[in-house]
Amino acid sequence: MKLLVINAGSSSLKYQLYDMTDESVLAKGLVERIGMDSSILNHKATGKEEVTEVSEILEHTTAIRKVLDKLTDKEHGVLNSVEEIQAVGHRVVHGGEAFKGSALVTGDVKSEIRRLFDLAPLHNPPAILGINAAEKNMPGVPQVVAFDTAFHQTMDEKVYLYPIPKVLYKKHRVRRYGAHGTSHDYVSKVAAKYLNRPLEDLKIITCHIGNGASLTAVKDGKSMDTSMGLTPLEGLMMGTRSGDLDPAVVTFVMNKEELSISEVNSMLNKHSGLLAISGSSSDMRDITDGMAEGEPNSTLAFEMYEYRLRKYIGSYAAAMNGVDVIVFTAGVGENSVVVREKVCENLTYLGVEIDPELNKVRSGDPRRISTPNSKVEVLVIPTNEELMIARDTYRIVQENN
Ligand code: ADP
Repeated sequence: MKLLVINAGSSSLKYQLYDMTDESVLAKGLVERIGMDSSILNHKATGKEEVTEVSEILEHTTAIRKVLDKLTDKEHGVLNSVEEIQAVGHRVVHGGEAFKGSALVTGDVKSEIRRLFDLAPLHNPPAILGINAAEKNMPGVPQVVAFDTAFHQTMDEKVYLYPIPKVLYKKHRVRRYGAHGTSHDYVSKVAAKYLNRPLEDLKIITCHIGNGASLTAVKDGKSMDTSMGLTPLEGLMMGTRSGDLDPAVVTFVMNKEELSISEVNSMLNKHSGLLAISGSSSDMRDITDGMAEGEPNSTLAFEMYEYRLRKYIGSYAAAMNGVDVIVFTAGVGENSVVVREKVCENLTYLGVEIDPELNKVRSGDPRRISTPNSKVEVLVIPTNEELMIARDTYRIVQENN
């Protein structure tokens, strides 16, 4: 079965075409600047030249049509006809409490995703645009939705509730939902397979650290706790997001600086984190370069980032009463030798010992960076959210056939 995985943003659309007979990627690409003049379509079929095309793409239906044109193009395509695509999988950020796993798209499912617009105002509306656009271009083809929150629906009430008046949960569903669930789920499964141990026997801390960053305590293969909360702002210090702070900071700053709700939201989501402390960049590469040159603001930004990450690892080891495996994944986790080195240097109390040479190895495959003596396995596992969505889509379409 060939299926298309779509990740639709408000002005962008990423796609990958899979052949599920061997889970190979036949083609992938990205449409950017949807709704603006000069939209860009970047397409690459496996084993063929990459193509970039600039045109006017005003909305998502046209974006998907252009993608399908490329997939069936004589020179750059991999399909004889669009009919070869037998299913479409969509990434949706927020599934609230309604979705504990991926689901086949129906009218009810779409209504539920719309009901959740409040909780993910930037992310859920484009997902609906993507689903509608795919339905228009491929009528009758089954569509599946995979949610970033679904994996975390196994959290216990004592973990997901905030200690605030309970009426806010009853009325507005204010609670911890978490994010990056597809990635935490994927890397924890790959970790168990790599170690050749049953997932159900392992206490794993998965560190998904990219621009956005979250940690999850995975016990018995289930998410027990995760650092992102009602929104993806809580938890670790990130590229431009503050992560944890005293909630009173918000009202205090709003009062002193006369900020509106949207201004304070923008401050905490877009102008905080590494960017705010370094004063120059949200990109960990720039921060570690600055630190290597002895630049004090980059050094402070790095130290705060590493310290907060390490504190979370410690708290999840406490939450699970131990840790067998620590997994690093996403942009920073997969690539930053120095972040992994500094974090692990301070985890010796848990029995963590990494091999500096293994830590420097670059590879696109799952790999161990801990020594044979280490009491905790430390792994670097490239995440693959698209593959996880493709697998769920394949399974759900088979089940509903
Ligand atoms: P997103 O959250 O947008 O999916 P990614 O997981 O792709 O992000 O991570 C992007 C981040 O990864 C970049 O902002 C950068 O800070 C970091 N990164 C990428 N390569 C490296 C590297 N070699 N060293 C350190 N950080 C890196």
